[in-house]
Amino acid sequence: MTTDELIALSNKYIMSTYKRFPIVLVRGSGARVWDSNGKEYLDFVAGIAVCSLGHSHPKVVEAIKKQVEILTHVSNLYHMEPQILYARQLMENSFAHKAFFCNSGAEANEAAIKLARKYAYENTGKGKYELITMKDSFHGRTMATVTATGQTKFQVGFAPLLEGFKYVPFDNISALSDAITDKTCGVMLEPIQGEGGVKIPDDKYLSEVRRICDEKGILMILDEIQVGMGRTGTLFAYEHYKVKPDIVTLAKAVGNGFPIGVMMATDRVASAFQPGSHASTFGGNPLAMAAALATLETIMNDGILENVRKVGAYFIKRLHEMKNKSSIIKDIRGRGLIIGIEISIEGSQIVNACMDRGLLINCVGGNVLRFVPPLTITEKDVNAAVAILGEVIMDK
Ligand SMILES: *Cc1c(COP(=O)(O)O)cnc(C)c1O
Repeated sequence: MTTDELIALSNKYIMSTYKRFPIVLVRGSGARVWDSNGKEYLDFVAGIAVCSLGHSHPKVVEAIKKQVEILTHVSNLYHMEPQILYARQLMENSFAHKAFFCNSGAEANEAAIKLARKYAYENTGKGKYELITMKDSFHGRTMATVTATGQTKFQVGFAPLLEGFKYVPFDNISALSDAITDKTCGVMLEPIQGEGGVKIPDDKYLSEVRRICDEKGILMILDEIQVGMGRTGTLFAYEHYKVKPDIVTLAKAVGNGFPIGVMMATDRVASAFQPGSHASTFGGNPLAMAAALATLETIMNDGILENVRKVGAYFIKRLHEMKNKSSIIKDIRGRGLIIGIEISIEGSQIVNACMDRGLLINCVGGNVLRFVPPLTITEKDVNAAVAILGEVIMDK
C-alpha cells in the first residue's frame, strides 16, 4: 500500500484521538526510525520517553524472543519467575519494598490513588480520601487520572469528574500546606512536569513536600512515569532531591516499548492492599517482565546513567549556544535527557520543519519544544539534532 492509502485507511478506521503527523513509521533501530517512503529520522521523541534504550535494543529483543517461547502469560493466581526476578531487581534499586504491576501509566496512577485511599481508610477510618495534585500536571486519561490531572483542557466534556481532588500551584510550598485538611490522604505530583512544559521545581521543593507530608501524616506520591528509569541521570528522579516518597508510579520506559505500568510503595503503605483489593489480568505477565528485566539490567550495567548525565549536559550546553544567537528562545530547562526549550512563537511550525529535515521532536503546552531522546544517544547525534534545529530556528 502507498503511504497515502495507509493514511486514508487510518483516518477511516481509527478514532481520531490524535492529531497525527502525515507519515507512517515502519522500522526503528537505536535513535533512528524510517518511514514508509524510506526516509530516515533522528528520533528525539522515542515514543515519548518510552524507547529509552533506543528502538529494538538487542538485549530487550533477545529477552522477549526467549520468553515468548517459554511462557507468555499465566494468571496472577499463580507465581511466575520473571515477575519475581524483576520485582526483586526493582525493589533493590529503589526506596520501595513492594511492587504492583499493570499495563500503562494511567493504570499505575489509578492503583496509586486506590492505595492512598485504602491506606487512609485502614489507618484513620472513613472520610480521609482527598488527594492534592498540581496545576499543569499530567497523570493520565482514565476518569480518576484525568481528574487528578490539573489541566481543564483534558477534562472538558467528561463531567462529573471524580470526587476528592484539589489542585495547587506546582513548586509552591505554602499553597500546598494551606490546602491540606483533615480529609487529605496524600499529595501526588511529578518531580518534573513533563506534559506541563518540562517544568523543574526549586531544588528544595520535594524535600519540603516530604516534610509537610510527615507533619500532616499524609502520603507523598510521585508520578515518575515520564522521568523515572534513568531519564534524569539517576534511576529515579527523586534521588536528586534526597527524598524517600511513599508511593512511586512508573510506566513509559519500563519495558523499552513493551507496555508496562508499575506502582511501588513501602511495606507500611503496601500492606493496605490485601488479596482482592486490586488486580490486573495482564499486569506483570512473564513476557512483560522479561522485557522489563532486560531493560533495567541494561540501564544499570551498560553505563546508561553516565551517558545521560554526560550527553545531557553537552546537549544543554549546545542549546545555550543557540539561545545566544536566537531571538525566539526564551528559556532552556532540562535535567539529564528531558529537555525543554520555551520559545516565543507557536511550536508546531518548528516541529514540522524539523520533521521535514529528518528530526522528530514534539511540542508541549503550545510553545515548549520537548526533547526526550533515547538515553543511549551520542554527542554526534546531539550535534546532528542541533544542526537541524539551529537551521530551523535561525530561519524564524
Ligand atoms: C504519559 C504519562 C502518564 C500516562 O501514561 P499512559 O501510559 O499514557 O496512561 C501519566 N503521568 C505522566 C507523568 C506521564 O508522562
